[in-house]
Amino acid sequence: MIKGNILNFEVSDLESVIEKYGEKSYRAKQIFKWVHQLGYTDFSNMSNLSLSLRDFLRQNFTVSTPMLEKEVIAADDTIRWVLNLNCKNSIETIFIPENNRGTLCISSQAGCAANCGFCQTAVGGFNRDLDVSEIIGQLHFARNRLQQLNVNMDKITNVVMMGMGEPLLNFDNVVKATGMMLDDDAYGLSKHRVTVSTVGITPKLKELSKKSQASLTVSLHATTNKLRTEIIPINKKYPLEGLMNVCRNYFPKESKRKITFAYLMLDNVNDSMEDAKRLVKLISNIPAKVNLIPFNSFEGAKYGSSPMARILEFRNFLVEKNIPTTIRKTRGDDVFAACGQLVGDIAKRTKTTKLMHNIVKY
Ligand code: SAH
Repeated sequence: MIKGNILNFEVSDLESVIEKYGEKSYRAKQIFKWVHQLGYTDFSNMSNLSLSLRDFLRQNFTVSTPMLEKEVIAADDTIRWVLNLNCKNSIETIFIPENNRGTLCISSQAGCAANCGFCQTAVGGFNRDLDVSEIIGQLHFARNRLQQLNVNMDKITNVVMMGMGEPLLNFDNVVKATGMMLDDDAYGLSKHRVTVSTVGITPKLKELSKKSQASLTVSLHATTNKLRTEIIPINKKYPLEGLMNVCRNYFPKESKRKITFAYLMLDNVNDSMEDAKRLVKLISNIPAKVNLIPFNSFEGAKYGSSPMARILEFRNFLVEKNIPTTIRKTRGDDVFAACGQLVGDIAKRTKTTKLMHNIVKY
């Protein structure tokens, strides 16, 4: 018999299991706390459950996260984990410590099908979606591992779905996993500190606004459809006008929440003052912040990063136009843990051209 992985269960799923077994449903929340808040993997130690319930759980379930395959710590203390899934695929999860916060960057798919021209994850192609246990399991694993490592800063205060994959192409599992991150009986993270990042799969984005309280980053990177389709092919199916329309109404006005637009700074590609002006116009009636990202290079990359002077000029222009703008600090690049450098080890690579065909039908 194949045992169920508790990490795939939302609290309501667990309640039905417990009720079927014949105990009161509040036991589900107790199990949730042991597993997610305290990081337990062994049912025997869940001391407020009856011995028979513990036995039942042990016989029928596991608490299994992706397995550590490789761990590298960068000069700036960023940690890069390569985690093996129960098959030939490996994904990457990154921990980025700062003075007063720790950010975990999580993958949503084994590989990625979006085929963006500037991203190294695209080079490896796509294998499959991660299930809920493999998404939330990265957080479960990381918290336990950080405690073992005895590092200076071991607290995960923020989670960003900015690892490998396009979260909105694995919609249901990402919604469930982010729900657990926010759930007070599980990880209890603030909605301001859990972020879904997407290239913008417009219909799914609209649905996300109804189903998730998490924060949102949209990887914009270009201000015309022509250039955006060139560097983010999925833009052909979901062009800027429709994407901006969904963004405009993404958060209810009274919430005062803002979307972050990530904007990669590609040397002489999208970094002119004309681009800056178009960007201001494009997001002018959307409550927004902009995060400028210096391009991180990799072998075979077709692009280079804009020089810092131009990035600063671009930022100053946006700030003058009253758009809060930050420049993303590059972290962990000496161990290839920086944005766009995550490759994992993806089995049975499907040619991305074939995949694009499927996505266009999506
Ligand atoms: N598919 C989602 C989630 C991945 S997030 C998304 O695109 O939003 C990864 C972030 O790193 C994205 O903003 C992406 O555009 C950025 N990125 C990709 N390649 C990069 C590179 N070479 N240098 C810097 N940032 C990069």
